[in-house]
Amino acid sequence: MNVLIVEDERSLSHEMEIYLTRQNFNCDVAFNGKSGTDKVLTNSYDFVLLDLGLPDMDGLDLLKDARKKGSEAAFIVLTARGEVEDKIKGLDLGADDYIPKPFSLAELHSRMQAILRRKHGLKSNTMTVADFDIDISNRTVQCKGQTINLTKKEFDLFHYLSLHKNRVLTRTQLTEHIWGDVLEDDYESNYIDVHVKNLRKKLSAHAPIDWFETVRGVGYRINI
Ligand code: CA
Repeated sequence: MNVLIVEDERSLSHEMEIYLTRQNFNCDVAFNGKSGTDKVLTNSYDFVLLDLGLPDMDGLDLLKDARKKGSEAAFIVLTARGEVEDKIKGLDLGADDYIPKPFSLAELHSRMQAILRRKHGLKSNTMTVADFDIDISNRTVQCKGQTINLTKKEFDLFHYLSLHKNRVLTRTQLTEHIWGDVLEDDYESNYIDVHVKNLRKKLSAHAPIDWFETVRGVGYRINI
């Protein structure tokens, strides 16, 4: 999943980037409001971690602008101000959560997971797709109690498709959200097909997966 960190305090932004990269997020960083706005409007992010005190603008204005232009990213407002009014204003403008500085990176991560659960109507960090149980915290997939050995990318693919089940995800969408890059080239976009093929092979060794559909010329869908 893609995260944009908009934070001018470089040491904090660097810490978040390192930590979240370790948690398998693709991180992008902006150090001011202008560059943050450009990125939010150009790229597709799952999360935006937004500092309010930016050198060139109030973070709340960036949030307002992004929402007005239809950004669907989950925004978490990070602020040292800790003012109740800021919090209310941020939530009113469409922030998904608010975390006062200083915060622990583990807390930030658990709030991100809580937002994902809320957004996708999950009650816990475990999702079930037919005979398969996906544990989001531990990044494992089990079938009838047996753990399936997936690579990082295979897990991300299965997780992302499962979060958006019954929706066709294009190769571009999958590439963007899983690799954090758009691959223009046809040859390179076959890359995703290779990962899907390997994932299917591993899953189908445990149970039937006729719900894992290829939508010809478009992409893939978990149809359940
Ligand atoms: Ca700041």
